[in-house]
Amino acid sequence: MKCSLGESFTKGELVPFGNIEINPSAGVLNYGQGLFEGLKAYRKEDGNVLLFRPEENAKRMIAGSERMCMPSPSVDQFMQAVKATVLANERWIPPPGKGSLYIRPLLMGSGSVLGLAPAPEYTFLVYVSPVGNYFKEGLSPINLVVETEMHRATPGGTGGVKTIGNYAAVLKAQGAAKAKGYSDVLYLDSTHKKYLEEVSSCNIFVVKGNTISTPDIKGTILPGITRKSIIDVARDQGFEVFEKPVTVDELLDADEVFCTGTAVVVSPVGSITYLGKRVAYGSSGVGLVSQQLYSGLTRLQMGLADDKMGWIVEL
Ligand code: PMP
Repeated sequence: MKCSLGESFTKGELVPFGNIEINPSAGVLNYGQGLFEGLKAYRKEDGNVLLFRPEENAKRMIAGSERMCMPSPSVDQFMQAVKATVLANERWIPPPGKGSLYIRPLLMGSGSVLGLAPAPEYTFLVYVSPVGNYFKEGLSPINLVVETEMHRATPGGTGGVKTIGNYAAVLKAQGAAKAKGYSDVLYLDSTHKKYLEEVSSCNIFVVKGNTISTPDIKGTILPGITRKSIIDVARDQGFEVFEKPVTVDELLDADEVFCTGTAVVVSPVGSITYLGKRVAYGSSGVGLVSQQLYSGLTRLQMGLADDKMGWIVEL
């Protein structure tokens, strides 16, 4: 089902998916020196395979590697590895409209390092897995709870890059929320505890009339590629979009709220619970704006709309 590419991005090769050997004193295991990416390949009606903005993932990995004191594959090396892995796994790409192939590039400090320091060697690999559509039968709303105690990122930390430790930091809050029946957690800034940051693995948008706002990128929020794309799609559809600090009050007063990410694409938020108080959006929870943007983006990703922004790489 899956395939990993090479032990090292400098001499990468395709090998059958399986366990990899790693030194117990590897930097990634001891000091969390690891970065990953996530993107999808879609099957087009004519059978060809499409990638959505893969260079953006390469650039985000390069930006992250600087923060994590790691060397990174170049954009070309990243693209070569992703394309080779996808093509080697082409048979696993679902038919049009039935899902996609999720692609997971991973960069880690694999060299041995006992005292705290960057690892002396690095491994870049790519593995893939077919995934179904997030929404099987049309859009359905998710229910979020605002977390007021735990934070996923703090100013000056690593929240703005896609490093593995950020995800370890959310497991507890996310697990507690899920145990109470929520879909996921919405985090607040750690300084004022009143500005929205993001959800465990997606960005957040707030709609009021014809205006759409999303928290600005300031080092504690992952610069989502779907976020960036939706801002352009929304402006193209005539909405006014602001990247700015967004308060909890604006969230609770919104007409509509939605999340964006590679996995969820555009996911409408049906309700938010903040300090025990639940606010529901609309009657069905699936607002028109979310629907319109979901359709605009997925049509592009599946090769059904004119790619006027040049976002699609056809293999
Ligand atoms: N925030 C976090 C913390 C994420 O893990 C993700 C998923 N990569 C996103 C936002 C959305 O980013 P993207 O649109 O690039 O998938």
